[in-house]
Amino acid sequence: MDKLVITVALTGNVPTKEMNPNLPVTPDEIARDVRRCADAGAVMFHVHARDKEQKPTLDINVFKENVRKIKEVAPEIIIQLSTGGRAGRDWEARAKPIRLCPEMGSFTTGSNNLPGIVYENPPQFLEYLAKVFNETGVKPEIEVFEAGMINNAMYLHKKGWIHPPFHFDFVLGAPGSMPASVKHLQFLVDLIPPGSTWSVAGIGRMEIPMAVAAIVMGGHVRVGLEDNLYMPDGSLASNPALVEKVVKIAKEIGREIASPEEARKILSLRPERKDLILSMLDKDV
Ligand code: ZN
Repeated sequence: MDKLVITVALTGNVPTKEMNPNLPVTPDEIARDVRRCADAGAVMFHVHARDKEQKPTLDINVFKENVRKIKEVAPEIIIQLSTGGRAGRDWEARAKPIRLCPEMGSFTTGSNNLPGIVYENPPQFLEYLAKVFNETGVKPEIEVFEAGMINNAMYLHKKGWIHPPFHFDFVLGAPGSMPASVKHLQFLVDLIPPGSTWSVAGIGRMEIPMAVAAIVMGGHVRVGLEDNLYMPDGSLASNPALVEKVVKIAKEIGREIASPEEARKILSLRPERKDLILSMLDKDV
């Protein structure tokens, strides 16, 4: 089994400080959390942007500021920028973070219901965003909320816009899409092409149970306050505490934790692109 790659979804678009005061929102808070989580064993960070009112934003300058601060305190880690749709629907605004050339970018390859909204990723948008991944050479993390999204990704591959080896993240347990169970997880794992890597993001109280499943099955793990606000005992979570929990469980059963360099190998990232994003921060993208 590969060593375990731990990703942290730090902030997301939905949680607020009222829900959990440990939520990092400003670039400084986000960077501080990244450092603590990296010290605890996390290697990849899924990053969103919030404006001065703490609302989700697609303002590329906020993404840049987040990246700048993160790279200052944790130059070794892997940055994965979000292309999520809750902060706005403009296609190019959603694609912009990919043009900054992070090592990875999230890419949900289909539409589904989420609490209060339809998460809209129509076919034309998937093609648009896939072409941006192709042009920039950024590796997508294919976010899968429903099995059909794997098919959609394979269509984009056939068109020549995304390339193997693929990395999938199965987002399970969000109200409105696939439930978080080992049965559903195994079903999805069986559908992805050989040679792919995968992680699971369990939503809400299924975050840690799904992490345990992935640890045992040879997958990788995403945790963080974007997906879940509580520890298994019901107390308020923090990003570092969630990482510590996963590391502890993994070590107890003998699954080793990947360093950033090891994670780059496991995920087939190109080490020479590690700091490409720094050269983009002063450019108009
Ligand atoms: Zn996200």
